[in-house]
Amino acid sequence: MKLFLAFITSFLSFIAWNQEVEHACSEAKIHSKQNGIKTLTAVEEVKANAYDVHYYSLDLNMTNQSTLLSGTAEIHGTIVQNLDTILLELFPTQVISQLRLNGVPSTYSRVNSLLKIGINQSVGSAFVISVDYSGTPPTSVQNPFGGSGVSNATVSTIGNKVTWTVSCPFLAHEWFPCKQILRDKADSSAVRITVPNGLIATSNGTLEQTEDLGNGFTRFTWKNHHPILYYLICATVAPYTEYVNYAHPINLPGDSIKVQNFIYGNATGLSQAQAQCDLLPEFIELYSDKFGLYPFSDEKYGISLAPLSGGMEHQTMTTVGVMEKKITTHELCHQWWGDHVGIASFSDVWLSEGFATYGEYIMLENFYPAETAALVNAWHSSVLTAAGGSIWHTDTLNIARIYNSRLTYKKGGAIIHTLRHLINNDSLFYASLRSFLSTYGDNVAVGLDLKAHLEASTGIDLTPFFEQWYFGEGYPTISARWNSIGSDVLLEINHTTSMPTSVPYFSIPLELRFTRNGLSDTIVRVNITDNSDQFYLSGMGSVSALSTIDPNNWIINKNGTIVQDPTFTAAVETIVDEDSWTVYPNPSLDEITITWKDGACTLRIMDSRGQLVQTIDQATENQMKISGLKSGVYIIEISTANGARSQRRILSL
Ligand SMILES: [Zn+2]
Repeated sequence: MKLFLAFITSFLSFIAWNQEVEHACSEAKIHSKQNGIKTLTAVEEVKANAYDVHYYSLDLNMTNQSTLLSGTAEIHGTIVQNLDTILLELFPTQVISQLRLNGVPSTYSRVNSLLKIGINQSVGSAFVISVDYSGTPPTSVQNPFGGSGVSNATVSTIGNKVTWTVSCPFLAHEWFPCKQILRDKADSSAVRITVPNGLIATSNGTLEQTEDLGNGFTRFTWKNHHPILYYLICATVAPYTEYVNYAHPINLPGDSIKVQNFIYGNATGLSQAQAQCDLLPEFIELYSDKFGLYPFSDEKYGISLAPLSGGMEHQTMTTVGVMEKKITTHELCHQWWGDHVGIASFSDVWLSEGFATYGEYIMLENFYPAETAALVNAWHSSVLTAAGGSIWHTDTLNIARIYNSRLTYKKGGAIIHTLRHLINNDSLFYASLRSFLSTYGDNVAVGLDLKAHLEASTGIDLTPFFEQWYFGEGYPTISARWNSIGSDVLLEINHTTSMPTSVPYFSIPLELRFTRNGLSDTIVRVNITDNSDQFYLSGMGSVSALSTIDPNNWIINKNGTIVQDPTFTAAVETIVDEDSWTVYPNPSLDEITITWKDGACTLRIMDSRGQLVQTIDQATENQMKISGLKSGVYIIEISTANGARSQRRILSL
């Protein structure tokens, strides 16, 4: 039981197909490819990491009538460790007609999806592998070991057919030979697609050339000059209409970002999509403000419509099934979180999906603030449907676990809201995220990289937060007991947890709303650090009720009871006389002396956030010296044998 002096501060109807059941971005990744599996073993991964991929160049023939494709893929790389074999992945239904190593036809072997090319080159040397191939990628129905890296379907409301790719997490090899290892981003990529006249092919980066080949076919050449994960390379083919607008972020003065959308061209298609496309520039401007300039501003952002459930955040060219503002902002937000900063492991997919989900909140907060509460409530309701489950996980071959809607998306988004609450300074919160994105941009990261970065930039120890909310399972059920004493309030917060074996207690700032006679409501912020904490709130005015625990929904929690208890007075009556003890000097350079008049006492030293630094029990002398405190603000609490307590703030220099 603790008694802290607290600070008094003042302070969707979403489409049913996704938000209440599964997140749309999750749907795109899970439903279309239940059976997708990773093909490289751990040993093969080590071998594949003996070379570094620099560049993928795909030159493909595609139509919107089927998933059949043919063409040539080039993989440029460098040998980084001694090796005798280049390991790539390519699905068995893709038939190779010729493979060249550095321009010379070369032998190779294939075992299931593994493609092995013998090589005799020294460390540091570069190589180019060219693969001529053709075939139909598998569907999840056709092949239990495949998925649907490429899909083809008719848009039911429009009537036109679309062919599109979704390679996440391990399905790129179903349509091009590649190295499916997250830590090896290619430095750049190019996708050239030849289609029958009348169709448009879209992909990453800039459309550098559109050539009418004069034989009934048109070739579209897209080039991406930024580092890219293998699963973010895309191709989409349909009878599109191009619809362009421009974003003007304040951090791109005098310039603009092209927003190049490919939507369905008939009247119904245009009316459905144009209004949503027109929102994209201000969303890009918003995220550029919060997260730093759109990372691919020298190329473009765009959306290609395809009849998939949800969306997929292909770099600079998102593929989405339905134009809805939370879907489009989620996928846009991925351009910073998941694309520019990729994930180094599927254990930490939160870094991509959690932040993209939180991007929905940021968009609503800025443009549709009346809708934020419903979004957070929906996240919390989903998380609270089960007692446990952590965001971080080790089941990295299980697509359903990686893209678990409840944990990766909704708990993932909710705890970023909690993190923002913990930092309690929006300009610091966003500045810290911006510097993280800048540091890890064009590269990959894990959750602990973010933790270390935020700790350095905010000065806050985030170990409890990550242990309890990211690695840990469960949520608190929070109850309050309180009593009003004049203009002061005595408050006791008790909480249990849903998974005490994982997280026995949560330590987190907690807000409480009090209603007052003759004054407006006030929200008080206290730091809970154990299953039971007591707080003495002074100068509250005439409080009539403790109306709400966590009124702003910062924390995933269940409501316990709120009880006004007139007998809850003992601690107030036994507060140590303020004149009976002294703490000096304050501020202190190295040593602090505490004196008191009463007999045996317990001294507790806490940091500015209420975290216990040191306890000195039963100090029988009436004077004590403390040294060795790091610089910072501390709370010294004295408690006497009969339970009386008092606190002082000190500054250690
Ligand atoms: Zn997503």
